[in-house]
Amino acid sequence: MALIVHKYGGTSMGSPERIRNVAKRVAKWARAGHQMVVVPSAMSGETNRLLGLAREVSPAVQTAAVTRELDMIACTGEQVSVGLLSLALQAEGMDAVSYSGWQVPIRTDSAYTKARIQSIDDARVRADLEAGRVVVITGFQGVDEDMNITTLGRGGSDTSAVAVAAAMKADECLIYTDVDGVYTTDPRVVPEARRLATVSFEEMLEMASLGSKILQIRSVEFAGKYRVPLRVLSSFTPWDIAIEEEAKSGTLITFEEDEKMEQAVVSGIAFNRDEAKLTVLGVPDKPGIAFGILGKVAEANIDVDVIIQNVSHDGKTDFSFTVHRNDYQRAFDLLKSDVVPALGAAAVVGDTKICKVSIVGIGMRSHAGVASTMFRALSDESINIQMITTSEIKTSVVIDEKYMELAVRALHKAFGLEGGAAA
Ligand code: ADP
Ligand code: ASP
Ligand code: MG
Repeated sequence: MALIVHKYGGTSMGSPERIRNVAKRVAKWARAGHQMVVVPSAMSGETNRLLGLAREVSPAVQTAAVTRELDMIACTGEQVSVGLLSLALQAEGMDAVSYSGWQVPIRTDSAYTKARIQSIDDARVRADLEAGRVVVITGFQGVDEDMNITTLGRGGSDTSAVAVAAAMKADECLIYTDVDGVYTTDPRVVPEARRLATVSFEEMLEMASLGSKILQIRSVEFAGKYRVPLRVLSSFTPWDIAIEEEAKSGTLITFEEDEKMEQAVVSGIAFNRDEAKLTVLGVPDKPGIAFGILGKVAEANIDVDVIIQNVSHDGKTDFSFTVHRNDYQRAFDLLKSDVVPALGAAAVVGDTKICKVSIVGIGMRSHAGVASTMFRALSDESINIQMITTSEIKTSVVIDEKYMELAVRALHKAFGLEGGAAA
């Protein structure tokens, strides 16, 4: 008998019919003798609908008072899901009970809309499991020390599930979704993308941080920190397939580098359209410039990603960086009103129509020339690179957003990632 955590995403929970299917699958695992904790997301489209309602009545400025209410609203999607799933399990003849984040409780900090889990008290859940119940816990939600409801950021149910699995020392955490595993890139953009039978934790971490929405990055961080056995698999296989077969399907996140993974130089391509670029022009090139610009941005709680400072001509240089698109206007206004006058710079310009495309692979550590293959593939498509950033196992470029899909397809081909059986 094992303790297993299942997580079901929005599409998998998308209709009463699908919820019944989830209940049948969970019941199958429970009847096989496993202790089951299930963490569902809101039904597909529901979180967007709720946040859309909030936007209709709320000013654009996101003060703490505003974001507190956004969490109050957004978390309700998951509350409906757990109740429905618990009912469906009961209809299957299972003893099932649902809990909101605050009832467990799942404790977080107070960073509304992007809270971090700090601790999970599993006593109540354990008592239910011991009593033979299936426990259904809301994804995405937590509670801060003042009993305010918080949410964990978009895609946060992955993190709820992995954190629950870590806290309870579950034998496995299975992330059921609408694709049958982690692919070399988003199969909706490149139909030739190939499912990976395994992917290393480090690669998954990079892919998630670079925009692959298949797993929220914090869920991967949790899995790494607590060594949670983690698998991504389809919720659309017939619910009654043999458990042994199901348990081997999808993609396993591995913590050991095996030989096969050493061979793949690039394992995947990630992309995101969530960033925007800002450039401060004609900055006097003297010590303290980076701090003068980015220090102010950091004070405003805006995260910076790719940074480029050019060499100076005549003592003046240009300084570019990217931020999340949601922070773009705030960053632009701040640079214009505070930074440009303070530093004696010429002007600030911005571009929101950019994207970042990245190649990821632990094989890049031991292979030279990987980045140049990337640059050649982009050059062959006449795609101009605006910014480049590299680390040990990834290279990212910032390009015009209209070339994103072309770039992803060209790189997928250039690194021989398409077709064939799962690696
Ligand atoms: P869920 O609602 O189950 O959490 P998400 O929509 O958050 O599902 O994540 C699954 C989606 O992630 C897939 O439908 C797919 O389009 C996208 N995706 C992005 N990159 C990848 C990748 N490398 N492999 C598989 N799916 C990916
Ligand atoms: N329902 C939340 C969202 O749409 C959390 C999740 O699905 O993981 O972002
Ligand atoms: Mg998701």
